[in-house]
This record gives sequence, structure tokens and C-alpha cells, in this order.
Amino acid sequence: MRYAIANWKMNVPPEGIDKYVEACAAAEPAAAELIIAPPFPFIAELRSFAGDRRIGVSAQNCSDQISGAFTGEVAAAMIRRAGAESVIIGHSERRKIYGESNKTIGAKLVRATEVGLLPVFCIGEELEIRESGGTDQLLERQIGEALEIASGAGEMVVAYEPVWAIGTGRVASTEIVAETHARIREILRRSGQPEAPIVYGGSVTPENARELARQPEVAGFLVGGASLSSAKMLQIRDALAV
Ligand code: PEP
Repeated sequence: MRYAIANWKMNVPPEGIDKYVEACAAAEPAAAELIIAPPFPFIAELRSFAGDRRIGVSAQNCSDQISGAFTGEVAAAMIRRAGAESVIIGHSERRKIYGESNKTIGAKLVRATEVGLLPVFCIGEELEIRESGGTDQLLERQIGEALEIASGAGEMVVAYEPVWAIGTGRVASTEIVAETHARIREILRRSGQPEAPIVYGGSVTPENARELARQPEVAGFLVGGASLSSAKMLQIRDALAV
């Protein structure tokens, strides 16, 4: 299975949610599954707009707790009940701005899978780490520490998102993507997730998607900026048909 995941972040597409979903629903079915990750309040609305059309709905985060006195948090079970089938976990903005650790991310992976949400588990290095040759070690830690906690977790998607490529317009080269995805596959084999599809994220656009989609071990894309346009998102999804 290949995935085209639209991360709207804390935005609504300028064309409006209903027009966006209509455009996606009207498009020809494709080889890759389209999943839209809106802000929490739009999950139920999106699910009902999408109906039984082949559009997945995802949250962008979930709590590491089941329930209780955690003001402002949203539990995985609540997200499931609102109609989402998946949840993005450990996005670099969550790690950097909200201080999420690998251990917290591991707990969130457990919370998601125990209620039947497919986690999209994000990993990736900062520019200084890549430039100092520390990428492999960092990825090893991000995956190892989280999956040690989520050792019994079921199926998941892994998203390789180099932080220096997110929202910067600086897409990773096809060589870096191919080499890093191969390395991640090795780590996942040793970490109890040998089959997890690996998607790439970081300044993916309709212009660069086709070339990236041809790289081995690229099972799809996690898209931020370009996902705010249904036309661009559909072109990116269709690039995965190669
Ligand atoms: C993201 O936020 O996950 C992302 C990949 O953003 P962008 O496509 O804008 O780089």
C-alpha cells in the first residue's frame, strides 16, 4: 500500500473543506491511498463529507494518556470515535515546539494502536546532525527508544522527515532519500517493525514527487504546504502510481 498524507497543520485550505473534499472524491481512484489530516475539530466534518468515498482521515497528534485530568489533550479513543482511522505521531513540530521525547512518542504509538488507529510515526534529523554525520545514530535512537515502549504495537507507517526539509522548500535529494530509507528499513527490521511502509516528507511538490516516488523504499509522502491545495495534493498522490 502507498500513502499520500495531507498534513494541514493548523490551517484550513483556502478553497474550503467541502470544495477540497469534493475535488478529491471526484478524482479517479489511484494506486495510493489519500489521507487527510485536518486540525481536530474538522475530523468528524471531514469524515462525514468524505462518506464512504475512498478518502482516509487522520489526526495530527494524540495524547500519551488514556483519559483523565489532562486539560487540552485529546485521547486516541476520542479521535477514533470522531471518525479518523490514523494519527500522525512525533511530527518534528511536536518534538521541537512541544518537547515530545522518544518515550512519549512510544506511549502515543501504544495509545493509537490499542484503539485501532494506524500511527504515522515521524522521525528525522536536524541539519546540524546530518552535517556532522550523526543521522544514522539519531534515527536509531528515535526508532529504538519509541519502539522499545511500543514493542507490542501493531501495524504502523513510518514517515522519514528530515527537519531541514520541512517547510523550507529544500527537498532532500533522491540519493539522500534512497540511502536513508534503506537505513531506516534495516533499523525497523531489528526493531520489530520489519514491514512498516516508509513515506517521505519534506517540501514535496507536484514537481519533485515523481522522481522521489521512484526511489526504493518510498511508500508514499507526508505533505505539509502543498497539501493545502487539493489540485497539488492529487498530483502528488498520482505521482505514486509509478
Ligand atoms: C510536514 O509538515 O510534515 C511537511 C512535510 O511539510 P512540508 O511539505 O511543507 O515541507
